[in-house]
Parts: sequence; structure tokens; C-alpha cells
Amino acid sequence: MINEALIADILERNSQPDENCINDVLKKAMEMKGLNSEDVAVLMNISTPEQLAALFESARQVKDEIYGRRLVVFAPLYVSNLCANECLYCAFRVKNDAIVRRALSQTEIAEDTKALIDQGHKRVLLVAGEAYPKQGFQYILDAIETVYSVKSGNGGEIRRVNVNVAPLSVEDFKRLKNAQIGTYQIFQETYHRETYAKVHTLGKKTDYDYRLEAIDRAMEAGIDDVGIGVLFGLADWKFEMLALMQHIKHLEDKFGVGPHTLSVPRLEPASGADLASHPPKPVADIDFRKLVAILRLAVPYTGIIMSTRETPEMRKATYALGVSQISAGSKTNPGGYADDEEVDSSQFSLGDHRSLDEVIRSISELGYIPSFCTGCYRLGRTGADFMDLAKPGDIKTHCAPNAVSTFQEYLMDYASPETAAVGNALLDEVIATMDNPIAAERAKSLREQVIKGKHDVYC
Ligand code: SAM
Ligand code: SF4
Repeated sequence: MINEALIADILERNSQPDENCINDVLKKAMEMKGLNSEDVAVLMNISTPEQLAALFESARQVKDEIYGRRLVVFAPLYVSNLCANECLYCAFRVKNDAIVRRALSQTEIAEDTKALIDQGHKRVLLVAGEAYPKQGFQYILDAIETVYSVKSGNGGEIRRVNVNVAPLSVEDFKRLKNAQIGTYQIFQETYHRETYAKVHTLGKKTDYDYRLEAIDRAMEAGIDDVGIGVLFGLADWKFEMLALMQHIKHLEDKFGVGPHTLSVPRLEPASGADLASHPPKPVADIDFRKLVAILRLAVPYTGIIMSTRETPEMRKATYALGVSQISAGSKTNPGGYADDEEVDSSQFSLGDHRSLDEVIRSISELGYIPSFCTGCYRLGRTGADFMDLAKPGDIKTHCAPNAVSTFQEYLMDYASPETAAVGNALLDEVIATMDNPIAAERAKSLREQVIKGKHDVYC
């Protein structure tokens, strides 16, 4: 799946692309049919400020054309920090005694879920280390059921549970699918085999291939919304980008559809994990923005997720470059939403500590529409079906109205008065300026239903 010699060759051949070559790739990108590895290598080696500005402008246009002004919002829900692996960059690594260990009970999971619902969240990413309490993997399945079962306030509930847990067998992936998950997410961390071996020193995660093939097994089990990613900072970012392209191509060739989302975490400091504070191959801020823009052009219909690992400033810079989903108000310690306790049990430190309300207000002020939409997967628009809809741009007539209705729900049920004022003005303006008449009609109608007191309306 990953051909390291070929990656070295492509990087070598495209190390100093000329102006014409860069312009040709940017022109091709504007057709919104994606880019190949050679094209990606050309863009990664852009060096002048003018070329960089042209890259960012192309990414902005593609993002705007496909996603409009929507930003899907979610929160991670850490249920356990027990782990049997030794990933040298992670505070949950088995030999680390600098953190307090905790696997939430189902009651505690329900409490944390309620706390998230009461902030206004509708989508969570359930996260755990790779060691489960005595029930084994059933613990995760029970946790998902618990999250979906919690109701709070006026129509408050989690409507989509995405999951980031260790790789499973096909059988267990089938059980995960039956638990009604949205996306299954797993990051290879580094595609560079030698680096992978150096930083994963104990436990099941030492098996590079078992992890790499996890997405194949998930798809064989029928999970067709999958998310992949790289933990940037471990190996050379240019190598990782081309390896990611090879992984995507493998999935497209084998299953007819690539990943639903890409994640681009950068290493953040973590208690008792020195490697995280001294990344072997740090990615400079400018390169980070560059890689987000390149991914947007390379796989235009794949969502890009930006987490709270990054600072508010960096998050803001990447929205225009192609990010389509963001986490907000996040905690990376189990029980972190319901408890105010100051014990150290977090996975890593965050760059953005703002509350959900503050993030929502800030992105609304920038003109982006926060979306809590969960319509697609509940209407079966996943995997290849989603891509078929997305590719001709039709998704706009669903996603934009659903963003409006779910944001309206948030504004009425959870927003502070300041955020409600900014948000309502934004929605008035968004609907008045929608250029697609079907989308505008649907958005207006859904918004009116929410204003009249209906919840969970979508198309
Ligand atoms: N334990 C499972 C695994 O490793 O696949 C799933 C959850 S793990 C808690 C989620 C992700 O956190 C990892 O895949 C890794 O990319 C990321 N992570 C770990 N340590 C990190 C750090 N110090 N900074 C940023 N991200 C980190
Ligand atoms: Fe465990 Fe995952 Fe952290 Fe590795 S990254 S130590 S597997 S929780």
C-alpha cells in the first residue's frame, strides 16, 4: 500500500518545480477533480510568497465552491485513558505514571454526555486508549449506546457518534457498525515504517501493517464512512503527505470510495511523554497551512478536520484554506466535561481553550455558519452514495439548509445573548444571499419550523 521508494523518487523529481509547472497544477486543481501524487509534490515545493498566495487562493476558491461557508462542529468524548501500548508521544502510554488512570462507568459516560448536550453539542467523537475494562470491547459498544440514550432539556441529544478507537477485527468492526456509529476514524500516526517502529515500542500497536489495514477491514465490515490521518511531527511532512495520497488511492481503487475525512493533528506536549514536546520533525506553521491547502485541492470532496490542538489563530487561518469540520470546547481527559476536578489525566495539552459558545460566536463573526447537522448519515447518504451526491455539488442543497436549521436550534436553545445576536444576523444574511433557489427555499422553510419550536428537522 505504501511504496517508500516511489515517494522518494517523486519528491526528488519535483524538488524544484518551475513556474509553468506550478501554474498547470493550480489550473488542474480548479477543475475540482483532485490531484495525483506528482501534483502534490509540485505544490509542496512551492517557495516564493507569490506562489504561496496563489496556492492559498486556489484552496479558498475550491473550499468555497464545494462547502460554502459551513463549518461542522463536534466535541471529542474521552471515555477511558487505560492503554496497553507504549506510544512515546502520548500521555496514555502504558508506562506513564504521571497521569491518573480512569475508565468512566456507563453512568459517568451519561453524565459527561449530558454536559456536552447542555452546551449545545449534537455530534461527538468517542475516544479511548487501547485497554478496556473487564467487558473488553463490549465496553465501547455499551458506551455508544449510553451516549445515544441521553436526553436533556428541549430536544437535546447526541445525534451522531463517531469513533476513534484502536484497530479491530472484521467481526468487531461489524459490531461497531451495528452500534450505529457515524465515522470510524484511525490515524496511522506515521506512514514511515522505521519511524513508526521507533515511537511504538510495546503492545499491539507495534504492528504497522495491522494498523494500516484497519480501514480495509472496517470497509469490508460495511463501515463506509472512514477517517484517516497523520500525526504530524514524527516524520518528514512531505513524505507523510505522499504516503497519505497512496493510502487514499488504495482505498479508492479497492472500494470505489476514499476516506470521508482527513485529520491533520500536530504533536502537542503531553504529561510524561517527552517526545511530544520535542517532535523529531516539527512542521512549521507556514508548512502546516500549506499542507491543509494542498489536501483541499488534492481531495476536494473529503472533509478536513481541525482540532483544538491548534491555537485559535491557526484554526482561523485554516478555515479559508479548506477545513470543513472543527472540534470546540474540547477536553481530552475522561470525565472532563462533567467534572471540574484538577487532576492530570489528559491525553495532551490544547491550543484552543475557548468554550463552545465562544467558538461559535467567533466563527459566526468571521461569516462561517456553524453546522450541527447529522442528516446525511441518518438518511443513508454515506460512503459512495455521499460522494455521488457531493461530486456534482448537489450536497449544497442539503448541507446548507441543514446547517441553517441546526444552527438556529443552537441559537434558540443554548447560545448566550451576544452569540444569539451575531448568529441570527448571520442567518438572515446567509438566507438572503443564497444563490441556489432550491437551497434557499429549503433553508427558509427549515428555519421557520425550528423557530416555531420543532427540533431535528433536516432534508
Ligand atoms: N488509542 C487509539 C489509537 O491510538 O489509535 C485511539 C485514540 S488516540 C487517544 C487518538 C489519537 O491521538 C492518536 O491516534 C494520536 O494521533 C493522537 N495523539 C496522541 N498523542 C498526541 C499528542 N501528544 N499530540 C497530539 N495528538 C496526539
Ligand atoms: Fe494508547 Fe492511543 Fe495513546 Fe497510543 S495513542 S498510548 S494507543 S491512547
